[in-house]
Amino acid sequence: MKNLFLAISVLIALTSCTNINPTTANVVAINKTDSTTIKHLFNTALTNGQCYQMLDVLSNDIGGRLSGSLEAQQAVEWGEKLMKDLNFDKVWLQPVMVPHWVRGEKEEAYFTSNNEKVNVPICALGGSIATPEKGIEGEVIEVQSLKEAEGLGEKLRGKIVFYNRPFDHTFIQTFKAYGGCADQRYSGAKVAGKFGALGVIVRSMTHNIDDYPHTGAMSYGNLKDSEKTPTAAISTRAAEQLSKSLKENPNLKFYFKQSCKTLPDAPSFNVIGELTGSKFPDRFITVGGHLDSWDIGDGAHDDGAGVVQSIEVLRLFQLNNIKPKHTIRVVLFMNEENGLRGGKKYAEEAKKNNEIHIAALESDSGGHTPRGFSFDANNKHHELFLSWKPLLAPYGLHDIKKGGSGADIGPLKSETISLFGYKPDSQRYFDYHHAATDTFDKVHKRELELGAASMSALVYLLDTYLQ
Ligand SMILES: [Zn+2]
Repeated sequence: MKNLFLAISVLIALTSCTNINPTTANVVAINKTDSTTIKHLFNTALTNGQCYQMLDVLSNDIGGRLSGSLEAQQAVEWGEKLMKDLNFDKVWLQPVMVPHWVRGEKEEAYFTSNNEKVNVPICALGGSIATPEKGIEGEVIEVQSLKEAEGLGEKLRGKIVFYNRPFDHTFIQTFKAYGGCADQRYSGAKVAGKFGALGVIVRSMTHNIDDYPHTGAMSYGNLKDSEKTPTAAISTRAAEQLSKSLKENPNLKFYFKQSCKTLPDAPSFNVIGELTGSKFPDRFITVGGHLDSWDIGDGAHDDGAGVVQSIEVLRLFQLNNIKPKHTIRVVLFMNEENGLRGGKKYAEEAKKNNEIHIAALESDSGGHTPRGFSFDANNKHHELFLSWKPLLAPYGLHDIKKGGSGADIGPLKSETISLFGYKPDSQRYFDYHHAATDTFDKVHKRELELGAASMSALVYLLDTYLQ
């Protein structure tokens, strides 16, 4: 036996199953109690689910909820009331100070080429400074990478630096395409500002060629205030158009105006609810998503889906009368998008209170059809997690492998905790991510429910087989 947990699972399998072949590696697969419980969790989610209705309220009644906004506060109150109404054993708010950036007036941008004015859709990146009130106008230098910008150095002075490296379409996992481009958004201004750029425009992070700019967090790093430059995302169609026009007319002028600003940090909260463990009440399994979202959509996929699925996990336990051995906690993290203060605060408090977290699961990859889970864990558990594959496969959960987990649960990482990320199908996620198109109508009821059920199945297995 490679480890104690596998030994326990063999024992459980041997005592609770008929038709067993003890030599098979996938002993858990034929544990009838587990497969029956998982089936019940899915049945309940699909016939008596509530997560879609919860998401309707969060997305349509509250809407976009950037940290520090009135909507973020309304989302906190909504989450607390909802979990109290569901009769979770304990529900409370964990205070956390969050950055408070506001977009201001709708941004404007155009370029002029051969005396023709072409209006283009842009949106300020989170954390950016405003332009002067009348906007800024300048010649454009197009680059494909931070490295290229760095190499141009002083040539960037007084120019608008245009980062235009597109997604690599050959990645099947679309998060890899995103990961391959997002440095332009996050650090583009930090590089260009050092050399006195007038402004920064970044191609939107999406596969699609469309008219929607996608916002997201950016950072000036350690730049002095005088080196900070206004930074915005441009839609992919406009980026293509601008690039084409620059080839014909390298001296064309680009204009943009935005009035965003950073206010003092604001008080906010993580929203926490739990079902108390029957056997190990002081050992925790956390499941969560982030409650804040960008302001230009209603944050239905990012991360309203993860929020309601996490709440639904506990509700599915209640409906199936599953009394968890460990305390199962749902955490609605505040401020993932532009600061991660909620995730950091939760880990800080857990440490301070000597809480033993044995596992955490985050859903922050959208509400599409379930594909699997990635895990980031101490090696001794790998075999156990992989042994659950046959139990999860009937639900389309084939993709169980080592990988990342989630930004909010990342700060909990230690030698002893197992971190999991819920992985739905990712092909359409970046159509909506951080854009005005991330709205409730893009979420499919059944796909969302299947996700909640998948997460509840994993939490059930973690509660059953981890100590
Ligand atoms: Zn997110």
